[in-house]
Amino acid sequence: MRQTLSASLAATIGLAGSAVYFSPWFWRRYRMNRVRREVVKNRILSLTYDDGPSSELTLQLLNLLQSRGARASFFMLGCHAQQHPQIVDRVVQEGHDVGCHSDRHLNAWKALPWEAVADINAGYERLSAWIEPKGMFRPPYGKMTLPTYWSIRRRGAPVWWWTIDSGDSHATLPSASQVADRLRKEGGGIVLMHDVARTKPRNDFVLELTATLLDVAQRESFQVKPLRELCQ
Ligand SMILES: [Zn+2]
Repeated sequence: MRQTLSASLAATIGLAGSAVYFSPWFWRRYRMNRVRREVVKNRILSLTYDDGPSSELTLQLLNLLQSRGARASFFMLGCHAQQHPQIVDRVVQEGHDVGCHSDRHLNAWKALPWEAVADINAGYERLSAWIEPKGMFRPPYGKMTLPTYWSIRRRGAPVWWWTIDSGDSHATLPSASQVADRLRKEGGGIVLMHDVARTKPRNDFVLELTATLLDVAQRESFQVKPLRELCQ
Protein backbone atom coordinates (compact mmCIF):
# COMPACT_ATOMS: atom_id res chain seq x y z
CA MET A 1 0.00 0.00 0.00
CA ARG A 2 2.78 2.34 1.07
CA GLN A 3 4.76 1.43 -2.02
CA THR A 4 1.77 2.10 -4.25
CA LEU A 5 1.32 5.50 -2.61
CA SER A 6 4.95 6.51 -3.08
CA ALA A 7 4.89 5.26 -6.68
CA SER A 8 1.81 7.35 -7.46
CA LEU A 9 3.30 10.37 -5.65
CA ALA A 10 6.49 10.03 -7.73
CA ALA A 11 4.39 9.72 -10.88
CA THR A 12 2.38 12.84 -9.95
CA ILE A 13 5.55 14.83 -9.23
CA GLY A 14 7.06 13.60 -12.50
CA LEU A 15 3.94 14.60 -14.40
CA ALA A 16 3.79 18.03 -12.75
CA GLY A 17 7.51 18.55 -13.44
CA SER A 18 7.06 17.66 -17.11
CA ALA A 19 4.08 19.99 -17.39
CA VAL A 20 6.15 22.87 -15.98
CA TYR A 21 9.17 22.02 -18.13
CA PHE A 22 7.13 21.95 -21.33
CA SER A 23 4.78 24.79 -20.31
CA PRO A 24 6.03 27.21 -23.05
CA TRP A 25 3.78 25.14 -25.34
CA PHE A 26 0.77 26.86 -23.75
CA TRP A 27 2.44 30.25 -24.21
CA ARG A 28 2.97 29.37 -27.88
CA ARG A 29 -0.72 28.63 -28.32
CA TYR A 30 -1.74 31.88 -26.64
CA ARG A 31 0.74 33.98 -28.60
CA MET A 32 -0.01 32.45 -31.97
CA ASN A 33 -3.76 32.80 -31.47
CA ARG A 34 -3.19 36.51 -30.94
CA VAL A 35 -0.97 36.76 -34.01
CA ARG A 36 -3.46 34.76 -36.07
CA ARG A 37 -6.21 37.24 -35.20
CA GLU A 38 -3.97 40.12 -36.32
CA VAL A 39 -2.96 38.62 -39.66
CA VAL A 40 -6.56 37.72 -40.45
CA LYS A 41 -7.92 41.11 -39.42
CA ASN A 42 -5.42 42.92 -41.65
CA ARG A 43 -5.23 40.27 -44.43
CA ILE A 44 -1.49 39.79 -44.04
CA LEU A 45 0.72 37.21 -45.72
CA SER A 46 4.16 36.69 -44.14
CA LEU A 47 6.60 34.47 -45.99
CA THR A 48 9.12 32.83 -43.67
CA TYR A 49 12.07 30.55 -44.48
CA ASP A 50 13.97 28.45 -41.94
CA ASP A 51 17.26 26.53 -41.71
CA GLY A 52 19.19 28.42 -44.43
CA PRO A 53 20.88 30.14 -45.97
CA SER A 54 21.89 27.81 -48.78
CA SER A 55 23.93 28.68 -51.84
CA GLU A 56 21.34 28.00 -54.53
CA LEU A 57 17.80 28.15 -53.14
CA THR A 58 18.24 31.25 -50.98
CA LEU A 59 19.63 33.15 -53.98
CA GLN A 60 16.78 31.97 -56.20
CA LEU A 61 14.29 33.08 -53.57
CA LEU A 62 15.96 36.46 -53.23
CA ASN A 63 15.75 36.95 -57.00
CA LEU A 64 12.08 35.95 -57.00
CA LEU A 65 11.20 38.19 -54.06
CA GLN A 66 13.09 41.09 -55.61
CA SER A 67 11.29 40.69 -58.94
CA ARG A 68 7.94 40.82 -57.08
CA GLY A 69 8.88 43.66 -54.71
CA ALA A 70 8.21 41.44 -51.67
CA ARG A 71 10.06 41.18 -48.36
CA ALA A 72 10.22 38.05 -46.20
CA SER A 73 11.74 36.70 -42.99
CA PHE A 74 14.68 34.28 -42.89
CA PHE A 75 15.35 32.35 -39.68
CA MET A 76 18.93 31.21 -40.16
CA LEU A 77 21.15 28.64 -38.55
CA GLY A 78 24.42 30.11 -37.31
CA CYS A 79 26.45 27.29 -38.90
CA HIS A 80 24.88 27.93 -42.33
CA ALA A 81 25.20 31.72 -42.08
CA GLN A 82 28.88 31.31 -41.42
CA GLN A 83 29.26 29.27 -44.63
CA HIS A 84 27.49 31.90 -46.76
CA PRO A 85 28.13 35.35 -45.27
CA GLN A 86 27.64 37.15 -48.61
CA ILE A 87 24.16 35.70 -48.92
CA VAL A 88 23.25 36.93 -45.42
CA ASP A 89 24.61 40.36 -46.43
CA ARG A 90 22.31 40.37 -49.45
CA VAL A 91 19.29 39.28 -47.38
CA VAL A 92 19.84 42.25 -45.07
CA GLN A 93 20.59 44.72 -47.90
CA GLU A 94 17.35 43.82 -49.64
CA GLY A 95 15.26 44.63 -46.57
CA HIS A 96 14.33 41.13 -45.41
CA ASP A 97 14.29 40.07 -41.76
CA VAL A 98 17.12 37.93 -40.46
CA GLY A 99 16.22 35.96 -37.35
CA CYS A 100 18.06 33.39 -35.27
CA HIS A 101 17.06 29.72 -35.51
CA SER A 102 19.91 28.49 -33.24
CA ASP A 103 23.30 27.25 -34.41
CA ARG A 104 22.90 23.51 -35.03
CA HIS A 105 19.12 23.08 -34.87
CA LEU A 106 18.89 21.16 -31.59
CA ASN A 107 15.39 20.08 -30.58
CA ALA A 108 14.89 21.56 -27.09
CA TRP A 109 12.50 18.75 -26.15
CA LYS A 110 15.18 16.13 -26.84
CA ALA A 111 18.49 17.85 -26.00
CA LEU A 112 19.83 18.42 -22.50
CA PRO A 113 18.55 21.79 -21.25
CA TRP A 114 21.98 23.47 -21.10
CA GLU A 115 22.87 22.13 -24.55
CA ALA A 116 19.71 23.57 -26.09
CA VAL A 117 20.37 26.96 -24.44
CA ALA A 118 24.02 26.89 -25.56
CA ASP A 119 22.91 26.12 -29.13
CA ILE A 120 20.64 29.18 -29.14
CA ASN A 121 23.41 31.39 -27.74
CA ALA A 122 25.88 30.05 -30.32
CA GLY A 123 23.38 30.87 -33.09
CA TYR A 124 23.08 34.50 -31.93
CA GLU A 125 26.85 34.71 -31.61
CA ARG A 126 27.47 33.52 -35.18
CA LEU A 127 24.76 35.82 -36.52
CA SER A 128 25.99 38.79 -34.51
CA ALA A 129 27.33 40.59 -37.60
CA TRP A 130 23.75 40.87 -38.85
CA ILE A 131 21.38 40.78 -35.89
CA GLU A 132 21.21 42.24 -32.41
CA PRO A 133 21.37 40.02 -29.31
CA LYS A 134 17.61 40.53 -29.03
CA GLY A 135 16.88 39.86 -32.69
CA MET A 136 13.86 37.74 -33.53
CA PHE A 137 13.92 34.02 -32.80
CA ARG A 138 12.19 30.92 -34.09
CA PRO A 139 12.80 27.73 -32.08
CA PRO A 140 14.05 24.68 -34.02
CA TYR A 141 11.10 22.30 -34.59
CA GLY A 142 8.98 25.00 -32.91
CA LYS A 143 9.89 23.48 -29.54
CA MET A 144 10.75 25.36 -26.35
CA THR A 145 11.24 24.30 -22.73
CA LEU A 146 11.36 26.49 -19.62
CA PRO A 147 15.18 26.91 -19.84
CA THR A 148 15.13 27.94 -23.52
CA TYR A 149 12.09 30.15 -22.90
CA TRP A 150 13.87 32.01 -20.09
CA SER A 151 17.08 32.38 -22.09
CA ILE A 152 15.06 34.05 -24.86
CA ARG A 153 13.08 36.18 -22.38
CA ARG A 154 16.33 37.41 -20.84
CA ARG A 155 17.46 38.61 -24.28
CA GLY A 156 14.14 40.34 -24.87
CA ALA A 157 13.90 38.60 -28.26
CA PRO A 158 10.49 38.18 -29.90
CA VAL A 159 9.61 34.58 -30.71
CA TRP A 160 7.79 33.78 -33.94
CA TRP A 161 6.10 30.54 -34.84
CA TRP A 162 3.85 30.15 -37.89
CA THR A 163 0.15 29.76 -38.60
CA ILE A 164 0.42 27.72 -41.83
CA ASP A 165 2.93 24.90 -42.29
CA SER A 166 3.61 24.68 -46.03
CA GLY A 167 4.30 20.95 -45.75
CA ASP A 168 7.63 21.34 -47.55
CA SER A 169 9.20 18.94 -44.99
CA HIS A 170 6.43 16.35 -45.09
CA ALA A 171 7.12 12.94 -46.63
CA THR A 172 4.63 13.73 -49.41
CA LEU A 173 4.64 17.27 -50.70
CA PRO A 174 1.26 18.99 -50.98
CA SER A 175 0.46 21.03 -54.07
CA ALA A 176 1.15 24.76 -54.01
CA SER A 177 -2.54 25.39 -54.70
CA GLN A 178 -3.56 23.43 -51.56
CA VAL A 179 -1.42 25.73 -49.42
CA ALA A 180 -2.74 28.79 -51.26
CA ASP A 181 -6.31 27.60 -50.60
CA ARG A 182 -5.54 27.42 -46.91
CA LEU A 183 -4.26 31.01 -46.96
CA ARG A 184 -7.48 32.08 -48.69
CA LYS A 185 -9.69 30.13 -46.31
CA GLU A 186 -7.94 31.46 -43.21
CA GLY A 187 -7.84 35.02 -44.55
CA GLY A 188 -4.11 35.53 -43.87
CA GLY A 189 -1.15 33.71 -42.42
CA ILE A 190 2.47 33.30 -41.51
CA VAL A 191 3.71 30.55 -43.83
CA LEU A 192 6.54 28.24 -42.77
CA MET A 193 8.91 27.19 -45.55
CA HIS A 194 12.58 26.12 -45.64
CA ASP A 195 15.48 27.43 -47.75
CA VAL A 196 18.05 24.84 -46.71
CA ALA A 197 19.45 22.77 -49.63
CA ARG A 198 17.38 19.63 -50.11
CA THR A 199 16.22 17.58 -53.09
CA LYS A 200 15.35 19.37 -56.33
CA PRO A 201 11.59 18.65 -56.05
CA ARG A 202 11.54 20.20 -52.56
CA ASN A 203 13.55 23.23 -53.63
CA ASP A 204 11.30 23.66 -56.68
CA PHE A 205 8.21 23.36 -54.46
CA VAL A 206 9.42 26.21 -52.21
CA LEU A 207 9.99 28.43 -55.24
CA GLU A 208 6.66 27.50 -56.83
CA LEU A 209 4.78 28.00 -53.57
CA THR A 210 6.38 31.40 -52.99
CA ALA A 211 5.36 32.54 -56.49
CA THR A 212 1.83 31.11 -56.06
CA LEU A 213 1.30 32.82 -52.69
CA LEU A 214 2.51 36.13 -54.09
CA ASP A 215 0.07 35.74 -57.01
CA VAL A 216 -2.80 35.12 -54.60
CA ALA A 217 -1.73 38.10 -52.47
CA GLN A 218 -1.76 40.37 -55.51
CA ARG A 219 -5.08 39.11 -56.87
CA GLU A 220 -6.89 39.04 -53.54
CA SER A 221 -5.41 42.09 -51.81
CA PHE A 222 -3.33 40.49 -49.08
CA GLN A 223 -0.57 42.70 -47.68
CA VAL A 224 2.82 40.96 -47.91
CA LYS A 225 4.84 41.90 -44.83
CA PRO A 226 7.99 40.70 -43.07
CA LEU A 227 7.37 39.73 -39.44
CA ARG A 228 9.03 42.80 -37.97
CA GLU A 229 6.16 44.87 -39.39
CA LEU A 230 3.56 42.87 -37.50
CA CYS A 231 2.55 43.76 -33.94
CA GLN A 232 4.38 41.78 -31.26
ZN1 LIG B 1 14.21 24.52 -38.52
